Amino acid sequence: MSRQWITVLGATGSIGASTLDVIARHTDRYAVFALSGHSRMDVLYQQCISHQPVFAVVCDPAQAAGLQDRLTLAGLSTRVLHGPEALAEVSSDQRVDVVMAAIVGAAGLAPTLAAVRAGKRVLLANKEALVMSGALFMQAVRDSGARLLPIDSEHNAIFQCMPVDYASGLGKVGVRRILLTASGGPFREMALEELAQVTPAQACAHPNWSMGQKISVDSASMMNKGLELIEACWLFDARPEQVEVVVHPQSVVHSLVDYVDGSVLAQLGNPDMRTPIAHALAWPERIDSGVSALDLLLTARLDFQAPDPQRFPCLELARRAFDAGGTACAILNAANEIAVQAFLDQRIGFTDIPVIIEHALDRLAPQPVTELAQVLLADRQARECAEQWLGNRR
Ligand code: NDP
Ligand code: MG
Repeated sequence: MSRQWITVLGATGSIGASTLDVIARHTDRYAVFALSGHSRMDVLYQQCISHQPVFAVVCDPAQAAGLQDRLTLAGLSTRVLHGPEALAEVSSDQRVDVVMAAIVGAAGLAPTLAAVRAGKRVLLANKEALVMSGALFMQAVRDSGARLLPIDSEHNAIFQCMPVDYASGLGKVGVRRILLTASGGPFREMALEELAQVTPAQACAHPNWSMGQKISVDSASMMNKGLELIEACWLFDARPEQVEVVVHPQSVVHSLVDYVDGSVLAQLGNPDMRTPIAHALAWPERIDSGVSALDLLLTARLDFQAPDPQRFPCLELARRAFDAGGTACAILNAANEIAVQAFLDQRIGFTDIPVIIEHALDRLAPQPVTELAQVLLADRQARECAEQWLGNRR
């Protein structure tokens, strides 16, 4: 079997590093075509030394020149490119077989869509891209014949528990409900009145998963589960009422599918993203991911609870946005990105995050979506609306 060429968008991040870890175990199957990074140039340099990609891509031209000099000096033939067009090029290049979409946030939308439109096998970690552009994104998948494989652990679990022909409709294949598990994050049991005072460091200290800062804050607010609910509706063509969120603090059951005959199928595993990454890379085969075997005796207990809407208002905001349709999910996502950054920068308190998102949803009427420009416009307007809220507070 000839090796598959892979582009890793967001290589310097948490998912990117886990992806390269899995790839390094299977150099007989995979070769790295391109790696992208944004601010962590030293990490990208080291990754280039280890994986010798054809291209490295960064955003800033000066950083690109600096990285090119270092790589040339080290004797590498890797070419360093820069800018959004370069990201789209290394995602759609005809030599590329697989694209790992692991840039965080809206910045990942254009290159992920480029990979989809080029009909690649797309490993989707960047849930924000799908949330923003849902119908357009899925239409592009159908038009190009791209193979979309979910990396988000819950969606990867659901995919593993679905029958192969689930695309013909959940009703047709006997699926009653999707049960989306959520850890509840670090603030699951904190007294409600203390939430306003929590620090970014506390929010980023997830009890079970080690992840980038943005998704860690999203997990603490449960906006992550809101985004995942929307993601599940698009990926599996489900209605929101068919997706139930269940808090499961141990993060061992990664999600479940409930069938009309009463069978409930679940996927379990240690909380380590290399499992869904290896699954999506090799599907329909299986390869070693480096993740240790699940020790059920050590796990001992599996608890399940209903999410508390008072503690986690973001979940309801996500349902509201999906129900509103059109650009509402792009508005939700953009306002959340601004709010999370403002919280990380200590400009607002943790409990201001849902307030800012609700403000943007109240102010901006959702518009129908027929092309990407409308999504990008809604994204920009929601960012401005959220920034205005921040400005008015000063
Ligand atoms: P990280 O913050 O660790 O990594 C983000 C990556 O995106 C980095 O490579 C970063 O570059 C790059 N990046 C950031 N901003 C830009 C930009 N403006 N333009 C181009 N590249 C940019 O995030 P994670 O790896 O944790 O998450 C990545 C995606 O995967 C997110 O969408 C997240 O929701 C999703 N995901 C993550 C999971 C996890 O366990 N981590 C689980 C499920 C989904 P640099 O670091 O060099 O600045
Ligand atoms: Mg997840």
